[in-house]
Amino acid sequence: MAAPRDPARRALRADLLDFSADPGLGTPTLAAVRYRPDHWLLIDGGRIAGVLPGTQGPGDDWQREEHRGRLLLPGLIDTHVHSVQLDVIASYGSELLEWLERYTFPAETRHADAAHARAQADAFADALLAHGTTAAVVFPSVHAASVDALFGAARARGMRLVAGKVLMDRHAPEALRDDVARAQRDSEALIARWHGTDRLAYAVTPRFAATSTPDQLAMAGALLQRHPGLYMQTHVAENRAEVAWIAALFPQARSYLDVYHRHGLLNERAVLAHGIWLDDTDRRVLADTGAQIAHSPSSNLFLGSGLFDWQAMADVGAAVSLASDVGGGTSLSMLRTMADAYRVQALRGVRLSAFKALHTATLGAARALRLDHEIGSLEPGRSADVAVWDWAVGAVAASRDALARDLHERLFAWMMLGDERNLVTTLVAGGTQYKRRSDDSGALERVHGAAAAA
Ligand SMILES: [Zn+2]
Repeated sequence: MAAPRDPARRALRADLLDFSADPGLGTPTLAAVRYRPDHWLLIDGGRIAGVLPGTQGPGDDWQREEHRGRLLLPGLIDTHVHSVQLDVIASYGSELLEWLERYTFPAETRHADAAHARAQADAFADALLAHGTTAAVVFPSVHAASVDALFGAARARGMRLVAGKVLMDRHAPEALRDDVARAQRDSEALIARWHGTDRLAYAVTPRFAATSTPDQLAMAGALLQRHPGLYMQTHVAENRAEVAWIAALFPQARSYLDVYHRHGLLNERAVLAHGIWLDDTDRRVLADTGAQIAHSPSSNLFLGSGLFDWQAMADVGAAVSLASDVGGGTSLSMLRTMADAYRVQALRGVRLSAFKALHTATLGAARALRLDHEIGSLEPGRSADVAVWDWAVGAVAASRDALARDLHERLFAWMMLGDERNLVTTLVAGGTQYKRRSDDSGALERVHGAAAAA
């Protein structure tokens, strides 16, 4: 539903860009790209109603908003992020397992307090919108209060959000542990309260195989059986020490991924973060079950976890989406995430085009989440979840933008040099949910102008 201050019929004039298909890895081609420079995007009742050329504006019954020379995209989709880890972003000096003990678990413990959970959830939802992200798959904490706070914050902003109570009944501090019976009771109550409410969906959320007993994983699989349409989210094969630990804990499993498979946790709504240390059999299981890997390049680089093999996933037709993984990742910006994904693939000798990266963060993620009927493109009928971006901010980016010879070169420079400072406004279901306060891009020139005049 649109925010009350926004009229039902809005028209935004900008350079419209979205995708009709997957551009694939490798050489950029325009075949899958739908680029409509200087067009009006028509929004009626919170949904996309159509597109008109810039010179043929809509009638007076539409509120017209000029963003000429700016880029308008579908809202970005972050498929793996922790709402309770904003406080530990950029924590120094450790790999995954030590990082959890030292920074993450203490921060998550504080979310048992409902007031703290609410304040952090509001800050988190606002931060997503201030980075152009309109839909996300999110880990709160083990506490039901943190789930209520997160869903409440998303609902108040009309956002598309998938989340669920973290399941964790071993190998975690006492204050963060549940048990099978309590986890089941809490999950059932939260599913009844939130799954299918407005634009929210519930995800059964075992943190990772090490922190759930086999009994709890079996309970999680039973929840998925009992409630068709639920999502599942977890972590898999992020770091080598973690993989060795899982092998010791589950000696009967063929692989780390197989632990989830044998507990009935893999399906077409399963989102597994990382997937760095998988083998070809694992990748075929992902392709066969329809489960996706939420590739989290910023986190993988920051924690030194490894270089994700995207090409091997593409070769077997397994789905890949993109994720910030804050607080392991160091930015909520999906532009920075795409830029880091490019760097990771460069280290593997694979070229990630700006088209492929941006498709993955929009229509690709929507398809992998089975939500492309609702989000991920500018097709008429889709929810008007869109973001308007400056092509360039600052003198260096502006001159690089002016020199770009074709659309891919321009979009690639935007992706590598841009971040949330390029974001002008974010709309969710046709309502403005973020607006940049002032145009900061000229600040440097103004300072110099003042100094010269003085
Ligand atoms: Zn994570």
